[in-house]
Amino acid sequence: MSEEPELAVGADAFTDRGAGLEVAVVGAGAVGATAAYDLAREGADVTLYERGRVAAGASGRAAGVCYDAYADPLDAEIAGEAIERFCALSGEDTFPFVECPYLWLAREGDDRRADAIREGVARMQEEGVVAFELDADALADRFPAVRTDDVAVAAVAGAAGYTDPATYTACLAAAATGAGATLETETPVSVRTDPPRVVPEDGPAHEVDAVLVAAGARTKRLLAEAGLEIAMKPYRVQALVADGDLPEPMCYDASAGFYVRPHPDGVLAGDGTEEREADPDEYDRDANPGFPDDLRERIEHRFPDLELDVDRAWAGLCTATPDRDPLVGRLEDGLYVATGFQGHGFMRAPAIGNRLAAQILGDDGIDAFDPTRFAGDESFEIREGMTLEDD
Ligand SMILES: Cc1cc2nc3c(=O)[nH]c(=O)nc-3n(C[C@H](O)[C@H](O)[C@H](O)COP(=O)(O)OP(=O)(O)OC[C@H]3O[C@@H](n4cnc5c(N)ncnc54)[C@H](O)[C@@H]3O)c2cc1C
Repeated sequence: MSEEPELAVGADAFTDRGAGLEVAVVGAGAVGATAAYDLAREGADVTLYERGRVAAGASGRAAGVCYDAYADPLDAEIAGEAIERFCALSGEDTFPFVECPYLWLAREGDDRRADAIREGVARMQEEGVVAFELDADALADRFPAVRTDDVAVAAVAGAAGYTDPATYTACLAAAATGAGATLETETPVSVRTDPPRVVPEDGPAHEVDAVLVAAGARTKRLLAEAGLEIAMKPYRVQALVADGDLPEPMCYDASAGFYVRPHPDGVLAGDGTEEREADPDEYDRDANPGFPDDLRERIEHRFPDLELDVDRAWAGLCTATPDRDPLVGRLEDGLYVATGFQGHGFMRAPAIGNRLAAQILGDDGIDAFDPTRFAGDESFEIREGMTLEDD
């Protein structure tokens, strides 16, 4: 890990609150790495197990779009905490966080989504989230790059930005080791309960006070092997990077179902959601053949001056739950879980990891995300995370 950036931890205090507590964290994605760091800096004896390299899962494939524009007060609070922490921890020696307005819009004729945007912004404003509605004229003034003649309503959120998710995750994993955690990469483990322990493929069981399973799309399978069911389904999404000049904004075109943000190589955009359960061991990591051209056309419709040259495209897995809220917290004594983020896990990781660490150390968990609110055997349809209804 000596080549990883050292996190300048000036913003975070070190304590001995967790002294004497031994914790195994399974999965060095954004959530596991953050929780490991926060546990280690509270004095817990932490081992972070990762089956591949750091950020080998969704966190290494994510777009890094971050905002606090949630209509639900709890979601907004958590996303706001996360943005604050991205800003506080980012820097030249850690990871970039580029503040950038987040715009979302619906087209003329798409009344359902236009109404959802208007209602969502009204609720955000009631909760103190900085978001406001723009009509087509105001939109054209504020963001001249955006095509506005077919826009029914748009909204913009100020507390937003983007980062490189793999760099954030590597940085937090390095910070965890800097705070005393042990990082075991290339070490797939299974999980056992009563007593809580992890079992590396090639090694003896590691018995601990608490296990946190933050294994992304593999979380359900891992827990099932330990005899525990959770209500989660992985699903496949796609993204691409293309050459092109887009300084701002980040944009989600709800009617066309895609998002786009500036990227050091041009733009990064995503969509291509498949609303069916994917196998985390077998899924196709390459984008579908038609995906880049199809998405490029939709982006160029919204940003007519962009001439995109697609450089690379890929697929990754997100995780769905019946109510589209994540499963975060205590499953049973000594066993904690974090999954089901519906495509919004990266932007919430700095806050979710922090809150999970606090819960493992004895604080209350997040009631609305309590993983035991489902029996685990519910049948449910996957609905992708960015849809506006119910937001
Ligand atoms: C294309 C794409 C774009 C996205 N864009 C965004 C975005 O813009 N904003 C946003 O907020 N979210 C986005 N997401 C979602 C986001 O990537 C996830 O919600 C988030 O990264 C989840 O982080 P995690 O730490 O929970 O899981 P992961 O990053 O999947 O980490 C889990 C880790 O566990 C490891 N693991 C699994 N099994 C084991 C085992 N048995 N033993 C040891 N280790 C194991 C895996 O290798 C992996 O590294 C996107 C996802 C994709 C695929």
